[in-house]
Amino acid sequence: MKAMVLRGSRTPFELADVPDPVAGPGEAVARVITCGSGLTIQHAKAGRRQIKFPRIIGHEITGEIVDVGAGVSTLKVGDGVTSFFYLNCGHCRYCLTTLEPLCTNGGGNVGLECDGGYAEYIKLPAHIFIKYPEELDYKAHPAEMGVITDALATPYKVLRRAQVKGGETVAVIGAGGGLGIHQVMMAKWANARVIAVETAADKFDACRKAGADEVVNPRDGGVVEALRDLTHGAGVDVVVDYVSTTATQEAAVRALGQRGRLVILGGAAQPFHVPARDMLTKEQAILGSRYVTRAEILDACDLVARGEVWPLVTVVRPLAEAEAVHDLVERGQVTGRAALRVA
Ligand SMILES: [Zn+2]
Repeated sequence: MKAMVLRGSRTPFELADVPDPVAGPGEAVARVITCGSGLTIQHAKAGRRQIKFPRIIGHEITGEIVDVGAGVSTLKVGDGVTSFFYLNCGHCRYCLTTLEPLCTNGGGNVGLECDGGYAEYIKLPAHIFIKYPEELDYKAHPAEMGVITDALATPYKVLRRAQVKGGETVAVIGAGGGLGIHQVMMAKWANARVIAVETAADKFDACRKAGADEVVNPRDGGVVEALRDLTHGAGVDVVVDYVSTTATQEAAVRALGQRGRLVILGGAAQPFHVPARDMLTKEQAILGSRYVTRAEILDACDLVARGEVWPLVTVVRPLAEAEAVHDLVERGQVTGRAALRVA
C-alpha cells in the first residue's frame, strides 16, 4: 500500500510502498478514506513529542473495514469506522467504567505508538475502531466525520467535565486553534455565553462565526481585567485553557468568579501558581481533562447526525500533499481542522 512515512522528527514525509497490513487475531484492518491533520501529530513530526521511527502518523480517520481477524465479532467487512485515539486495554477498572483515557495498561496513541491513518490501510486492535452510527453520512462527509473523534468530542467532554450550564460564561483560551474553535462551538451549543481569547487577529471572525459572543486579544493587555469587565466584575464561570502556559493559567484562575472552574488540557502544560485563599473562599476548582470516552465520541456523532453542530474542516488535500498541510498546521494557518484525502 501507499503510505506517508516519517523516518524521523524534523524530516519531510516520504510517500512509500509498504506491505499491506493483515488482521491478526483480535484485530481489524480498515481502508482509510480521510485522516485529520492536527497539532497533536505535528508535535511528533516537529520533535516536540518523542516517538519511534519509522512511523505512519494520523488518528482522526474515516474508513471502512476490509478485514477482520479471528475472534472479532464486533466489526464486519464494509462497516464505516473511525478510531479511538488511545490504545487502551479494554479490561482494566478504568476501561470497564467508561474512563478509557485513564487506562492503566494503555499502549500509547494510535498513529504515534503504532502506525496510523496516513496510509491506504490501517490495522488496529478491533476494539479501538468505533463504528459510525447508521444516521451519520460518513461517505458524504468523510473528513468532517473523521475529526469528531478528537476535535469535536474533546470539547464536548470538557462541557461535562466542567458541568457547564446554560447561561454560564465560558472563556476559551486559544479559541482560534483546531480544538479551541470547536470548544467555542460546543459551548455555544450548550447555551453558554462564550468569550474567545485569541492572539491571532485573522481568527477572530472564525471565532465569532463559531459562536463567540466576545473576542478578547491578550496582546491588547489585561486579559483578566477584560474578562472581569465583560462579567461586570463577577469573573467568568469556566475557563478552558488550550494553551496552558504559566501565564495563561495564572490569568485564567484570576479571571474566575465564585464557583469558577478552570479546565486544563493539552498545550504547554507548564506549572503555575494558584491563589489558595481565592480557591477556598470562592469555592473554585481546577480540573484536568484527558481526551474522551467512547461514549462521548458516540454522543458527539449523534449531535452531528442531528445537525446540531458541524465539524469545521477548511483544508482537505490529497495524501501526497501531507507536507504542505503540516506546514500550514505548524504555522497556525488552518482555521478549524485540516484533513488528508486518502481514497
Ligand atoms: Zn484499560
